[in-house]
Amino acid sequence: MSKRTLILWDIDGTIIVSHGAGVRAMERGFQQQFGLPCDLTKIDWAGRTDSWITSEVLRHNQLPVTPENIQAYLEAYLSLLPVELANGQQGQVLPGVFDLLETLHHHEGIAQGLLTGNMHRGAQFKLTHYKVWHYFEFGAFADDSPRRNDLGPHAQRRAKALHGVDFAPAQTFIIGDTPHDIECGKVIGAKTIAVATGNYSLAELQAHRPTAVFADFSDTAAFLRLVGA
Ligand SMILES: [Mg+2]
Repeated sequence: MSKRTLILWDIDGTIIVSHGAGVRAMERGFQQQFGLPCDLTKIDWAGRTDSWITSEVLRHNQLPVTPENIQAYLEAYLSLLPVELANGQQGQVLPGVFDLLETLHHHEGIAQGLLTGNMHRGAQFKLTHYKVWHYFEFGAFADDSPRRNDLGPHAQRRAKALHGVDFAPAQTFIIGDTPHDIECGKVIGAKTIAVATGNYSLAELQAHRPTAVFADFSDTAAFLRLVGA
């Protein structure tokens, strides 16, 4: 049986919370690279891509938003991220997610990948740290575009290349914890699953009209029913 359902996961606030490891690496990376303090609370970063966030921080500090500055900042961030992940004491895989990833992984009709604002290397650092990286053979990342709404087609193209299936939008589910995730799913005509384990409440997510909203993913059976598995 070939795959027919495609599930694309956001990372932060959806699969894991790193309790500030990513934010600290972004702040320390900026300090290290540009010699200036950085306060990420001034940036509306949730659901954005790392390349978008670095541009915003540069702009916020009146520094030129050039490809060179963005690249240097991203490299500094990525060099510090493993250190911050190792320092963090309380990060975790969110409730129910490990069981859900495992179940979907063994489901013959389902393909799962990533659709995340992380850089590819950042995603690998985070998900390796939390021991779930092996579930993901492909994805779309901030390396592909700074605009999250551009990422869906990259994930669809890689899903097709890997599995030899043109997944129908009606059988494609974008999972995430912010309105940006819902929006980037809608622009490719996919179904959208929001989860209130990040910075947004059930009611806030519901207002953006996703296909479904979950408080968390502890009810594996309910999720499987939703995706028709
Ligand atoms: Mg997120």
